[in-house]
Amino acid sequence: MSGLASAVLLTSASAKASGVGAQAAPAPAPTGPFTLPPLPYAYDALEPYFDAETMHLHHDKHHQSYVDKLNAAVVGHPDLASRSVYDLVANLDAVPMEVLAAIRNQGGGHANHSFWWETLGKGGSAPTGELAKSIDAKFGSFSAFQEKLTAAATGVFGSGWAWLVKLPGGDLEISTTPNQDSPLTVGHKPIVGIDVWEHAYYLKYKNKRPDYVKAYFSVVNWDAVSAKFADGKKA
Ligand code: MN
Repeated sequence: MSGLASAVLLTSASAKASGVGAQAAPAPAPTGPFTLPPLPYAYDALEPYFDAETMHLHHDKHHQSYVDKLNAAVVGHPDLASRSVYDLVANLDAVPMEVLAAIRNQGGGHANHSFWWETLGKGGSAPTGELAKSIDAKFGSFSAFQEKLTAAATGVFGSGWAWLVKLPGGDLEISTTPNQDSPLTVGHKPIVGIDVWEHAYYLKYKNKRPDYVKAYFSVVNWDAVSAKFADGKKA
């Protein structure tokens, strides 16, 4: 063995013995317990209202980022890691201070988007059943409801969401939340939501949020939304 080869071997063995190699390797980013749900339809299914490129970015990058950062936040918190994201954002008062902002923002982002994909699609053109009756009773008509939700969505200052929520007593209400705050945090069940973060519309609609909100009403899966209202679940 040449002098050089034995020197290399010696160096390699020393590094192993001292654990230098193990310490130098960064810990891999956690891939769970939370996972990105697949889109329940093709990326181009909502064309021409929501374009495929925006759907790819929105789902594969933005939503994935909320999931990744939520997973990072619950490292070392098995009590949080074992619960559903809906349960986490519905009980922020039970979350330790050091991860409260992360659970609120990243958990809220994961919860809001997981809800959202399920409520989009080409399922029906209007609410049905109990939801249809409740919308008429609360707002007078479906078109009056659309006008009020549109006004709420276009009026959100900065990033956030406009919602139709079900109150604990069963009544409907239109509300808004800033950032990724979830209606679940104040005990409201989301039924309809409009994401008005610029990442949801800027590629196609640029600064014209009202055009995007108008397009949104062409891609609501009213069958899924009506079922959500009637299913009796908290989230
Ligand atoms: Mn979004």
